[in-house]
Amino acid sequence: MSAGHAVRLLGAGDVRAIAARLGVRPTKKLGQNFVVEPGTVRQIATLAGPFAPGDVILEVGPGLGSLTLALVEAAAPVPGARVVAVEIDPVLAAELPKTIADRAPGLADRADVIPADALGVTSLEGKAPTALAANLPYNVAVPVVLHLLAGFPSIARGIVMVQAEVADRMCAGPGSRVYGVPSAKLAWYAQARLAGTVPRTVFWPVPNVDSKLVAFTRHDPPVSAASRTEVFTVIDAAFGQRRKTLRAALSSWAGSPDAAERIVRAAGVSPGARGESLEIAEFARIAQAKASLAGGRLQ
Ligand code: SAM
Repeated sequence: MSAGHAVRLLGAGDVRAIAARLGVRPTKKLGQNFVVEPGTVRQIATLAGPFAPGDVILEVGPGLGSLTLALVEAAAPVPGARVVAVEIDPVLAAELPKTIADRAPGLADRADVIPADALGVTSLEGKAPTALAANLPYNVAVPVVLHLLAGFPSIARGIVMVQAEVADRMCAGPGSRVYGVPSAKLAWYAQARLAGTVPRTVFWPVPNVDSKLVAFTRHDPPVSAASRTEVFTVIDAAFGQRRKTLRAALSSWAGSPDAAERIVRAAGVSPGARGESLEIAEFARIAQAKASLAGGRLQ
């Protein structure tokens, strides 16, 4: 790496020193557990790559900048590759550009910081993100990933660190005990896989949960005449009462148990099955079958 690309990652002492200087006391409400171990953020940045020229890496919740600096370091050799970081805490968002200028002085123009709630962002100052890389705030991890995949079709892949149980749910397939709403909705957008485990000792403050990395690659959604919203409504209904058969679980959604049975059969799925055994394509077929039956196109 050239001298102009040198990056000084944050260690435990640096993170505590910046937090102390800012008077920051990490809050649980915002999921503020900062990574204090350079090896961990380098691993995440490596998994986020390899980057191509012009890649825009969206980071959610950069905090004090531990992962941001590693992403800037990984992007440095790639022409035009840059990081856009969205941070909800205004104090942290205001400090981050200074931290980058201080610790990656030759690369400060490769990162932008947007002070905003990631759950509300619909544009990134005109930049189209191509990848997501984040140590996510754990209480909103799944909604953030789903919101960004819906709002930014340009995101082709990503790597996120989340609570271990949430990671397992995001990556589970039909038939798994932990397969549920997050698994099925994420499967609409992408293929997700577990990419590693992270000990709680790499954080300050140390959380009371373990963490895992989830990598995902976007794929085309299932072919269906139903909209994503309609399909997601079926998923919510099926898992709202996950121990019940589809005939029972979908009865309110369909209007009655008999109507649910007709729709599910028309979709080629057994009404005696449970949501936990269905692929995303089957949820999509059920949503489409309801519209088709309502239109009199299927009997
Ligand atoms: N990336 C940093 C690291 O690895 O050290 C911090 C990760 S910390 C687990 C989560 C960060 O997300 C915090 O900085 C927190 O303020 C921020 N955050 C929480 N909710 C957010 C939201 N809705 N939108 C954007 N940032 C959020």
